[in-house]
Amino acid sequence: MRFLPLFLDLNSGTVALVGSGAAALGKLQLLRSAGADVRWYSGDLDVAEDVVLASASAGRLELSFADPLEADFSEFAAIVVAAGGDLGERVAARARAANVAVNVVDRPDLSTFIFPAVVDRGDVVVAIGTGGASPVLARRLRERIEAVLPARIGELAALMHRYRARFAAMRHKSTSARKFWERVLDGPIAHLLLAGRARAAEAALARAINESALPQQQESGTVYLVGAGPGDPDLLTLRALQVLQGADIVFYDELVTPGVLDRARRDAERVFVGKRRGHPGIGQDEINRRLVEAAWSGRTVVRLKGGDPFIFGRGGEELEYLRQANVTVVVVPGVTAALGCAAEAGLPLTYRNEASRLVFVTAHRADEAAATDWSALADPQTTVVFYMGLAAAAPVRDGLIAAGRSPATPAGVLARGTRPDSKAAVGRLEDLPSLAEQAGDGPALLVVGDVVARSDAWREADRIIARELAA
Ligand code: SAH
Repeated sequence: MRFLPLFLDLNSGTVALVGSGAAALGKLQLLRSAGADVRWYSGDLDVAEDVVLASASAGRLELSFADPLEADFSEFAAIVVAAGGDLGERVAARARAANVAVNVVDRPDLSTFIFPAVVDRGDVVVAIGTGGASPVLARRLRERIEAVLPARIGELAALMHRYRARFAAMRHKSTSARKFWERVLDGPIAHLLLAGRARAAEAALARAINESALPQQQESGTVYLVGAGPGDPDLLTLRALQVLQGADIVFYDELVTPGVLDRARRDAERVFVGKRRGHPGIGQDEINRRLVEAAWSGRTVVRLKGGDPFIFGRGGEELEYLRQANVTVVVVPGVTAALGCAAEAGLPLTYRNEASRLVFVTAHRADEAAATDWSALADPQTTVVFYMGLAAAAPVRDGLIAAGRSPATPAGVLARGTRPDSKAAVGRLEDLPSLAEQAGDGPALLVVGDVVARSDAWREADRIIARELAA
């Protein structure tokens, strides 16, 4: 991000606009509709007069036929240049020297600020930037945002604005301001206003503010056990996203990627409770204890776990513990690693007449592998997915082959699935340990079954072999 979006207070000074032509007129219109005082160095008398006559606006418009380079830049809140030749470069150099924000149209390299695409709904303004990379993309995004924003969202913001001070003065200390305004937004008040019933909405808000003056009962918060999916934040469920946006505190572990964590409410406290290489972590008992403590303090708690919380993630144990402590628990499922990785790898986990059974097994350590009932996995129509099996690739291979699966069965290792550095290594069951080595560090699944031969990586390997044979 080179350009940080900021909102400029147009009362802070005059905006200078340099140039005529279509681009200058476009900027003039934008600045005037925002109520700016504009000094326009048009250079073209005729056009300028037409525009002045045609436009009525809150701000002042002053025409100047002086040389903009001679102006006193310190009186400007910002300078916009939409002129040909080297005027852009020269004005930009002077503006930089005078520490005034400058925009040269179509020259992000000369600009200290750029204009975003704007969605304008009164008090609610959305700015969309692409760092100057693609105005077309910015406009496309604006259309999408326009489409999802309710038409009266600006009026809703204005209503809340009008009552902010009154609420702050009246609320009892046990009323949480954030929860109060969230209830306004999620409940009947916003609903009435967005439906066009402004008076009824305002009356309801006034009543709610009166009630907020009374002491509120301290309720225990809720713990949400949320599946974070395998890594790609776009694989979060909509519900997970909503819950993350409402979180006061988020407990997460090592499988949760930074991209997913970014989707939590900005002010939510983030607490790492996982293990890292060489550090054992705080342990399950301590995690349980902290979840309960946070809930009892009345906060909205999110326990964010990689994949799905109920698949090899000790989510079940956390649920039991919270239930015993009488804490309300809501479980939000996630895309488990097997499903996310298989989709990414183009590997159908079941297939008609080829794979009619799918088994998820954990093979954390060699001794766990030794305790596994391999005979149950011997059927050639079974796809077996091993979680936590990277270090147990050799015992997994030995167990399956001893139980009767062919050493030539297609097998693969899907590492860091759905993350930017994901990697799939495919081959035969007998080669599983070397596939695990090829796949590298990080979370990985072992997948064994004929369907592995349908994956993208396998087809790619086939193509390479065919090419080599032909050559
Ligand atoms: N609850 C999680 C699994 C937790 S066990 C889920 O539903 O996915 C941790 C194991 O999950 C890892 O050792 C690895 O085998 C697997 N895993 C998790 N994320 C993964 C990813 N992005 N790619 C490959 N395997 C992953």
